[in-house]
Order: sequence, then structure tokens, then C-alpha cells
Amino acid sequence: ATFGTLSERLTETFRNLRTKGKLSPADVDGTVREIRRALLDADVALEVVKEFAAKVRERALGDEVNRALNPAQQVVQIVNEELIAILGGEQRRLEFAKTPPTVIMLAGLQGSGKTTFAGKLAKMLAKDGHTPLLVAADLQRPNAVGQLTVVAERAGATIFAPEPGNGVGDPVRVSRDGIEFAKRHQHDIVIVDTAGRLGVDAELMKQAADIRAAVQPDEVLFVIDSMIGQDAVNTAKAFQEGVDFTGVVLSKLDGDARGGAALSVASVTGRPIIFASTGEGLDDLEAFHPDRMASRILDLGDILTLIEQAQQNFDEAEALKVAEKLANEQFTLEDFLEQMQQFKKMGSMKKMLGMLPGMGNMKQQLEDFDEREIDRTEAIIRSMTPAERRTPKLLNGSRRLRIARGSGVTVTDVNALVQRFEQAAKMMKTVARGGVPNIPGMGPV
Ligand code: GDP
Repeated sequence: ATFGTLSERLTETFRNLRTKGKLSPADVDGTVREIRRALLDADVALEVVKEFAAKVRERALGDEVNRALNPAQQVVQIVNEELIAILGGEQRRLEFAKTPPTVIMLAGLQGSGKTTFAGKLAKMLAKDGHTPLLVAADLQRPNAVGQLTVVAERAGATIFAPEPGNGVGDPVRVSRDGIEFAKRHQHDIVIVDTAGRLGVDAELMKQAADIRAAVQPDEVLFVIDSMIGQDAVNTAKAFQEGVDFTGVVLSKLDGDARGGAALSVASVTGRPIIFASTGEGLDDLEAFHPDRMASRILDLGDILTLIEQAQQNFDEAEALKVAEKLANEQFTLEDFLEQMQQFKKMGSMKKMLGMLPGMGNMKQQLEDFDEREIDRTEAIIRSMTPAERRTPKLLNGSRRLRIARGSGVTVTDVNALVQRFEQAAKMMKTVARGGVPNIPGMGPV
């Protein structure tokens, strides 16, 4: 999908950033370099990329990041804000004339999706209670009038087209007549579809400029194919010089475009993107929202969550250091393991001990004693990291699962061990306070 690769690469860039606490200038530069490359590979115009990268870098090295609780998140926010800015900032709506009809002229290369957009816009406006008229001023392409007629029918809109043989070849006159027709028949909006060429040429521009001068449109919308890639900037600039336009329509945003046109055109021309066309159907038209488009590119929610999780682990590591210091003199799983091994030695003496007379209680305990249990316990503790052995509070669900897998037991076994250990630790406290303990690791005594 459009922006797919760009999204992935930006997410990857932030993934690398997320485990950092404070960001060094080198971290920032590395991140900005990655973003720059990702944008260039997505066909975003060089001038746009340069300015974008410079702004992000300046802000990321500034105070707002330095002071931030989570600098990585702050950098992502900055990238998001600057993305919104190059997409035009605030949403811009279609502007209507104070006295109807509102005249909307369309311009763009042939195949850009102009005619399709004319139908979509007519349908959308009709739904809002308007009575749009479609004017077929594309007299260049053999079947353009026929195509617009079909589109108008599907959109439930009226079409104004030159009678065959009458006025053919004069799009300016057709446009003017169309507006007169709209006034007489109470159409409050006129959409003028103009001719496109496969490439930008002088004649095309002159024709569009002439129509513009003749009908004084309230809006001139430049329709641009999102798939056009690197050519987007030159095409947009040529139309701006030749006809000028008040707004942009991005078409075929549903395709596999890398997104460069979408990301370049507003900032290169200084004209807002008003609509996004997202399919061949007449309902596939959306008002363009720069902030929503930016979130689509950045997957902001996902990235912020990722960073938050990383930050939690980071905090945990800090907490662990403190906990370790505090725990210095405490009973740990390592101590527990040592005790187990003591019991194991004792276990192998079971038979011998059992033969001794007068053992009483102790004899029964030794009978219940299972050597394999000790082996299991040992395996579990050996599967723990040193930090986990010292601070068993670290043992969350995923760590317990890892340990169970590592030692070939079930999570229930790990849980049971931790529980026994906790009981033992409690006894150790009792000892420390001068009480008399039971022997840990021997089950209920
Ligand atoms: P025009 O020459 O500028 O009037 O372009 P058309 O409206 O005839 O569109 C050219 C081709 O692009 C047609 O096959 C349309 O069906 C297709 N098209 C137009 N808009 C979209 C869009 O938003 N998404 C997709 N996938 N195809 C589109």
C-alpha cells in the first residue's frame, strides 16, 4: 500500500532509538540520517527532504527533547508534527462562492484521475444536498465527453456537454455556456473537467489558463496521480506556473505508490491537499486530513507504545540495581540452591541414616524426600539469570515461561519453586529476628 515501505522504515528507525535514555547528538544525527534516506527512497522531493531533515534535527537537538521525560518519544512527536506541516498543516475544506454557483475547475495530466474525481466530487456534494452540474470541457480526448456522461449518470448528476458539431473544439465557450446553464437551472455548483495531456505542454497550459480566465473559478483543483513518483514535483510546478491552482487532489492513493508525490506536492507548491481519491468506485473519495495522513505514515500509536514498553524495561533495570544493593544481605535463590545441594548430599545418605535407630520424625521426612525434586529445582534455578536469582521479584510471566522452557519443566513447576523459595525467605527473616525456622525446601514440615 502507499507509504507501506516508508512506514516500515520509519518504525524501524524509531525502534533503534527507543531503548535509549538521554539522546546524544550522534543518536539524533543517526536518526535524522535514517529518516532522510527513507524519505528519499519513497520518492519525496529532495528540497522537501532537506528542509524536513533540517527542522527535525534542529528541534531534536534542542531543549524540548533534552528536558523530555522520554527523549525518544519526543523525537517521534517532532517527526509527526513536521510531517503534518509538510502535508499542509490544518485541514483545508472546499470553499464555496457567496453567490452560487460555485465554480470548481479541474486540471491535471491525462490519466491522472480527473474525470473519475469529477464524478466522485459530484456524488459527494449531491449527498450533502447540493445540485452539481458536470461540464465536459475536455474536448481533446476522443471519448472524454462520453466518459464524463457515464460518470455523471453513475453519480446521479447532470452533465453539460457540447452538442456534437456545435462548439466542438472550443472548451472556453463550453465552460462559459455551462455556467450559464447552471444559473438557469438552479445548479449551485459547477464542476468543469478540462483536457489533460500525457505530458505537460504549452498548448495544454494555455487552454487551461484561458478557461480559468473566462470562468473565474472559485477553486482550481489540480489532480495528481500518487503513483507518478519523482515527476510529481515538476508536474505540479508546471501546472502552478501555467494555470495556478487553489488546491490539490491526490488520486490513486489506494495503489502501491511510495508516497513521494503525496509528501512533496503541498510543500513544494504551497497549496493545500483538499481531497484524497482512494479507488475506482465513485464513493472512494475522502477529505484530506494532514494529521490523519501523518499517523498513517508513522503508525504513531504503535511506535509510542513500543517506546513506552522499552522505557519500562529500562526503568526496571534501574530499579534492579537499587534492589540488588538492598538485597545484598538477604536470602537469595542462589542461597536456596546451595541449601538444596546440601539436602541432596543428605539424601544420598538416606539409606544409611534410615538404618540408624531412634531417628523418629527425621526418618519420616527422609522417606518423603525425593532426590529428583532437587535435580528439578537445581535445573530451574540454573536457567535463571544471576539477576533473577538475586531478585526473584523480577520473575514475571514471560521470564517464568523462558525458565520453564530452559529447564524442561512446566510454568507450574517454576511457580511452585518460587513459592517455596518465598516461604523459605520468610523463614530466613524469622531466623534473622532470632526465631526457630523450619527447614526450607523440604515441603511441609
Ligand atoms: P483523466 O484522464 O484524468 O480523466 O483520468 P480518469 O479519471 O479517466 O482515470 C484514469 C484511470 O485511473 C481510470 O482507469 C480510473 O479508473 C483510474 N482511477 C482514477 N482514480 C483512481 C483512484 O483513486 N484509484 C484507482 N485505483 N484508480 C483510479
